[in-house]
Amino acid sequence: MPEVAQRVKNLPPYLFARIERLIEQKKAAGVDVISLGIGDPDRPTPEHIVAEAGRQLYNPAHHQYPSSVGMAAFRKAVADWYARRFGVVLDPGSEVVSLIGSKEGIAHIAWCYVNPGDTVLVPDPGYPVYAGGTILAGGEPYLMPLLPENGFLPRLEDIPTEVARRAKLMFLNYPNNPTAAVAERDFFATVVAFAREFDIIVCHDAAYTEIAYDGYRPPSFLEVPGAKEVGIEFGSVSKPYNMTGWRCGWAAGKADVVEVLGRLKSNIDSGVFQVVQCAAIAGLSGPQDCLAEVNALYKKRRDIAVAALREMGWVLNPPRATFYLWLPVPRGYTAESFAEHLIEGAGVVVTPGTGYGKYGAGYFRISLTLPTERLQEAFGRMKQLLGRVTF
Ligand SMILES: *Cc1c(COP(=O)(O)O)cnc(C)c1O
Repeated sequence: MPEVAQRVKNLPPYLFARIERLIEQKKAAGVDVISLGIGDPDRPTPEHIVAEAGRQLYNPAHHQYPSSVGMAAFRKAVADWYARRFGVVLDPGSEVVSLIGSKEGIAHIAWCYVNPGDTVLVPDPGYPVYAGGTILAGGEPYLMPLLPENGFLPRLEDIPTEVARRAKLMFLNYPNNPTAAVAERDFFATVVAFAREFDIIVCHDAAYTEIAYDGYRPPSFLEVPGAKEVGIEFGSVSKPYNMTGWRCGWAAGKADVVEVLGRLKSNIDSGVFQVVQCAAIAGLSGPQDCLAEVNALYKKRRDIAVAALREMGWVLNPPRATFYLWLPVPRGYTAESFAEHLIEGAGVVVTPGTGYGKYGAGYFRISLTLPTERLQEAFGRMKQLLGRVTF
């Protein structure tokens, strides 16, 4: 057997083998395990989107290879959506490229700009694909800590000048997974200035701009003046339209970056199944009541979770966006030992913060993407096990 390539060996080790084993043991022993660990919408894709896909499935034109950059109609639907939702003007021909889910583009963007040894600025805790894509391209992630005292925003002034000069890309993600933090336009404006000063391409992951509560409307990075000259934004129909299984997203923004990503991808994949692109168009261009409904559902679950956690002793503000809660573990536990305690004692699975990087130590993440009764059941069991917690 040839040895596994160094780039794969360089990927971070899988941390949760022990926790996985515990879950399997519990299930084998007949315990009804409830997972609060998975960030994947539990509701089905809205009917009008599924119906459109059903109709398009019978069009033989869609049975052939798609264009690798995306159907003109799909790229126009993304551009029109940006204009309506954010007031951002995009040229669908040069400033939008389709992706097989935004994860695919996030994983591939480093291949476009990062040479072995190059630096990429990566938020920690963060979506693991930012560091993973960087490492696969031979680059070195420089971690930007996201800490509660800074509202889980990176402190750009803490990045050493020589690191900033070396950096090719900066990943950002607001509303944020896993911390549920949000960023405002003034923060994005400082990012644009920083990127200009140090010649860095900003890669903003906007997967959660449509999952928000209490009237809050998260901004796009591309709304900020100059953003389109320094970066791109990754977007996706996965979270707003319950379409994680369909695989369709986009990168939008700086035309040369979009072109290079499209060029790389034309050597790797052959685009997104056109029926899936038609379904995404139906999501972006169709009635948006489904979005209001799913957000109302997550808000109800969020409020149940916040009330239950406060009763147990957690001090927290309800998150304004995303379907996550990012919480400190009680005194005496690490992220892993607390997760193990919850599985052992309550059959409840949460994600240890260390799964999102070293600055996730001391935290755990709860996802609201499970039926409301199951969420209530999980909190009932947690209360019984934990009583009142201290920190
Ligand atoms: C869910 C998620 C995505 C979206 O992934 P898709 O590949 O578009 O399904 C991207 N970024 C973050 C941070 C996510 O949590």
